[in-house]
Amino acid sequence: MHRITGLNVSQIRKDFPNLHVEVQGKPLVYLDNAATAFKPQTVIDAIAAHYRTETSNVHRGVHFLSEQATARFEQARDKVRDFIRARKSCEIVFTRGTTEAINLVAYSYGRHFLNKGDEIIISEMEHHSNIVPWQILCEEKGCVLKVIPFNDEGELDLEAFKRLVSPRTRFVSVVYISNSLGTINPIRKIIQTAHQCKAPVFIDAAQAVSHHKIDVQELDCDFLAFSGHKLFGPTGVGVLYGKEEFLEKMPPFHGGGDMISSVTFEKTTYNTLPYKFEAGTPHVAGVIGLGAAMDYVQSVGFEDMTAYEKELLDYGTKALSGIAGLRLIGTAKEKAAILSFIVSGIHAHDIGTLVNDEGVAIRTGHHCTQPVMRHFGIPATSRASLAFYNTKEEIDKLVEAVLKTKDVFR
Ligand code: PMP
Repeated sequence: MHRITGLNVSQIRKDFPNLHVEVQGKPLVYLDNAATAFKPQTVIDAIAAHYRTETSNVHRGVHFLSEQATARFEQARDKVRDFIRARKSCEIVFTRGTTEAINLVAYSYGRHFLNKGDEIIISEMEHHSNIVPWQILCEEKGCVLKVIPFNDEGELDLEAFKRLVSPRTRFVSVVYISNSLGTINPIRKIIQTAHQCKAPVFIDAAQAVSHHKIDVQELDCDFLAFSGHKLFGPTGVGVLYGKEEFLEKMPPFHGGGDMISSVTFEKTTYNTLPYKFEAGTPHVAGVIGLGAAMDYVQSVGFEDMTAYEKELLDYGTKALSGIAGLRLIGTAKEKAAILSFIVSGIHAHDIGTLVNDEGVAIRTGHHCTQPVMRHFGIPATSRASLAFYNTKEEIDKLVEAVLKTKDVFR
């Protein structure tokens, strides 16, 4: 039995049906959790129940099913509030995911409150989702994008950040955990430094949310976003957290149903928070499924989960480092269970394809972080990203598969 640091992993694995499929006639080894995580049965059941006997739209119906769906939908919002320790439920906006949440803020806050010459700071390790929306804004408004560099371990240069921050800094947006390097960034310090210059801070928590307990009040971030599908919930749903004082003064992002208070041809007034930012029929089943996912994660417990993942990370780091010609990309002291690597003489895509023949699923490519690849002068990495349902035996299978790949290319 895999019982380490308090987690009963064998038992946990039974909760995830997708872990028990075969690929190429071999048991699947799923190590692509940073791209999307598997869903426990409770999440699948919650979504199925909504579609099977509880289908209804929310907020605008008085019949039983609509009231029930609305109650479940709003309960999920309260769960998110508690999950990230927001002060109020009105600070939780449901979006399609992290990408939409960043676009929402860049569009609504950025277009309204940022002007020519204002500086926006991001980092060199951002996902394209946290680069491109700011670039679009800069092009449109004449703002200037500044970038915090990282060192060859993949750690942000905080001294460089301090030099970049000035009264011209009007917004800072950084990733909590890098999806291609695994670095856990010192976001508390970044937030404090930015706040000294009164710049609001957005935290991209797409990767962090499934590895760490998040407390937005303790962090004192102004915005934070994550996606349901990386938190063992459904695709197509995510969360934007924003401090009420910011959301309140921001104009709507999308116009349409639900986000209005009254509409006439002369003038439309907008709904209260958070509905002002939730135009149109939301992903009702997705939100309910996300609620079930958070319940599941909480039943496992972050403390045990984080400790176990650290054990897997240490084991995987040691095992992969033992392969001749393999170089880990991203060796920060503070790291989540993400192992990016290159093997000399073999393209990442070939590694991905050949380990797939052994039933091992990893991701290869630039992981939507082309500037990170440019930093290291490489086109791509192979990336194994672990979750609390993975095991040391699965890491062994990855190592065997990489060794086999090396044999093929010898
Ligand atoms: N930021 C980071 C750090 C990510 O890893 C991802 C997903 N790979 C995103 C943003 C975008 O998330 P989504 O595609 O779910 O909107």
